[in-house]
Amino acid sequence: VARNPGEVEFHQAVREVLDSIGVVMGKHPEYAHAKIIERTCEPERQIIFRVPWQDDRGEVHINRGFRVEFNSALGPYKGGLRFHPSVYQGIVKFLGFEQVFKNALTGLPIGGGKGGSDFDPKGRSDQEIMAFCQSFMTELHRHLGEYTDVPAGDIGVGGREIGYLFGQYKRLTNRYESGVLTGKGWAFGGSHIRTEATGYGNAFFVREMLAARDDSFSGKRTVVSGSGNVAIYTMQKVRELDGHVVACSDSEGYVLDEQGVDVELVKQIKERERGRLAEYADRRPSGKFVANRQVWEVPCEVALPSATQNEITGKEAEVLVRNGCVAVGEGANMPTTPEGVRVFREAGVAFGPGKAANAGGVATSALEMQQNASRDSWSHEFTEQRLREIMVSVHDRCYSTAEEYGLPGDYTAGANIAGFTRVAEAMLSLGLI
Ligand code: NDP
Repeated sequence: VARNPGEVEFHQAVREVLDSIGVVMGKHPEYAHAKIIERTCEPERQIIFRVPWQDDRGEVHINRGFRVEFNSALGPYKGGLRFHPSVYQGIVKFLGFEQVFKNALTGLPIGGGKGGSDFDPKGRSDQEIMAFCQSFMTELHRHLGEYTDVPAGDIGVGGREIGYLFGQYKRLTNRYESGVLTGKGWAFGGSHIRTEATGYGNAFFVREMLAARDDSFSGKRTVVSGSGNVAIYTMQKVRELDGHVVACSDSEGYVLDEQGVDVELVKQIKERERGRLAEYADRRPSGKFVANRQVWEVPCEVALPSATQNEITGKEAEVLVRNGCVAVGEGANMPTTPEGVRVFREAGVAFGPGKAANAGGVATSALEMQQNASRDSWSHEFTEQRLREIMVSVHDRCYSTAEEYGLPGDYTAGANIAGFTRVAEAMLSLGLI
């Protein structure tokens, strides 16, 4: 804490991992000798830079850009960029730290990093978004490369932003280096299913958790928070798996639709028109918009937080448990506070931590890198099949690791231990670097 003052989200993420890995350290004194914990908590490199840009009226703005290259023991730094006014060092570091273990858990050859800016894309024109992305990449490009550091999207960064970022990278380097960014459009080196991957992956993960208890999504009332990339494709897949999604949200409130959320309409409003979720109720008679309230007050059996960090505290978790919630899959990163996790654990709720449940996004990014490296393009079906297999293996790895360490059903411990062990083994082999 003294070494990283004020970075509260980073402290929270580190504490959560350290809580799980005491048992590993007991078994592996060589990790302590090599100071693996101290080394994994210190990013290999942190870059902070100025991002100047001009809006449509000619006014100059200055934002702050970040890239935290956390750990490259398993492969190039890999992790998204977040554009949101709340972004500062503590958020980027918590996300980067989590990313290291998440990426390890996928079994794929990717290290961990994260980046972003306190730029607020809301209400900005296409031209302004492009101006910002070009300025951001003008600094960041010197730190990237398909063998070095490969960013993707996160909150506020989707296909449009990745396109502008890639265009500027290509222009500055004079290289068509497809593998330097993932989440690209399909027309220029993107992968099928990358857009859908995080949401689909979370639905697959929760299906496995339910199956491990001889249960399924069938007919289950499901609530999803957020209405962005992760939320939209989570809802789509849950519906295909026969779940009944009744609510989703944005930062202004939530939509309740007892007939089942019309995902196409949410997509139209949020993805294509870049509008507000409140408009849903104007266009669908069964939909009701509840302003300035938390979606977790809606009774459900499955809860899939897919908006942002710390959206389920102990209080919301208690409401969910009281209303009969049996499974939670974290589509977002660290959406549940430690107190919330404790409430779920004590109530016996199947709890899939973000590190495991939302790993489908980065896993499919790694598949995009594979396709770029071999100048290949896989079909929609084949790529989704690969994603499904990866999510099953992530689930099984968490499940069996938790059993091995005498903590059956504790996916948080399973994910932390399995991810940490893989990174620790690689770091030991690479020597003191
Ligand atoms: P988007 O920007 O597409 O959507 C974010 C959604 O969450 C929007 O509905 C937004 O509402 C809401 N939201 C964001 N910040 C807040 C806030 N502070 N309070 C309330 N609501 C908020 O982002 P993604 O869907 O890509 O990301 C969502 C989460 O999933 C993040 O935690 C991200 O780290 C995580 N994630 C994303 C991956 C990906 O592949 N994209 C991969 C793995 C994890 P509004 O429109 O009103 O701002």
